[in-house]
Amino acid sequence: MADLQTDMATPMNDAAVMIARELSRHYTVSRGFLRGHATVKALNNVSFMLHAGKTLAVVGESGSGKSTLARQLTLVEQPSGGSLQIGGVEIANASSAQLKALRPTVQMVFQSPYASLNPRKQIGTMLDEPLKLNTTLDARAREARIRAMMDKVGLRHEHYERYPHMFSGGQRQRIAIARAMMLQPRIVVADEPTSALDVSIQAQILNLFMDLQQELGTAYVFISHNLSVVEHVADDVMVMYFGSTVEYGSKTAVFAQPLHPYTRALMSATPAIHKQDRQIKVKLVGELPSPLNPPSGCAFHTRCPYAVEHCKTEVPLLRPIDGRLVACHRVEEITS
Ligand code: SF4
Repeated sequence: MADLQTDMATPMNDAAVMIARELSRHYTVSRGFLRGHATVKALNNVSFMLHAGKTLAVVGESGSGKSTLARQLTLVEQPSGGSLQIGGVEIANASSAQLKALRPTVQMVFQSPYASLNPRKQIGTMLDEPLKLNTTLDARAREARIRAMMDKVGLRHEHYERYPHMFSGGQRQRIAIARAMMLQPRIVVADEPTSALDVSIQAQILNLFMDLQQELGTAYVFISHNLSVVEHVADDVMVMYFGSTVEYGSKTAVFAQPLHPYTRALMSATPAIHKQDRQIKVKLVGELPSPLNPPSGCAFHTRCPYAVEHCKTEVPLLRPIDGRLVACHRVEEITS
């Protein structure tokens, strides 16, 4: 990954299929009877750039804002602030015709292939729906395209008339991937797409994602809490904590030397990451703070072993350090 701040100001933008700048999503929630309302900042000023055929992995614990980000990127929700460009179109200024044309270009693959497929529909019918809605192909041409996609994702032609309950978890995720790919989207947002599967099947599904990317040039936003998975698929890595980016850089840089204490803690907790990274021992203690009562200063200070007084009052800005962006006041001291 080139320096995001430089990259965003250069003609490289031409090749970006998605650009987020300071994207935020805040929700107003009730605190309870007679206690008024509170604002939950689920996503704060998140910026990134995604290029065709590349994978941005978004990493963090449950509650770090990853799924909120996914809902903004797939146009399920409107961001509260910031800018999102897809294929050069600014979403906030897009007409309803532009939005209608953009929606098929961003598809989603969900965590649970059990919940994301309609149990009452045959596989062929499910894969036909996006084609029926978005193309003028006749029934014969649509079926040919469906069967070609089934070949690509490793489903057999006799599966066309079967129902989801007749498949294993891995096969169901192949069906979900085929459905997401039917319209040859520019971008697929995959939210923990292997975490509900047996370990033995996970590698097959990851390899399928990568084969399809190579063949179709699709860009992925790959959301995962599993750093072993991220190491396998990512080009760039964005680590999120409490709705904000804390470290963002190329996979090579982040995995070679994680800089933010939270990234280091996640690496320390992942036994499959190679040995030199395991030697960096940062223990992650406690839970994510309540979004109704966010910590002052650096949101990670309640769990960070390097926190000092300054961390409790000043929010650290994301700044370029050693070829990536990091939000930590003390990163130079910690890593020197
Ligand atoms: Fe830890 Fe302070 Fe850095 Fe936050 S700013 S990660 S509390 S050292």
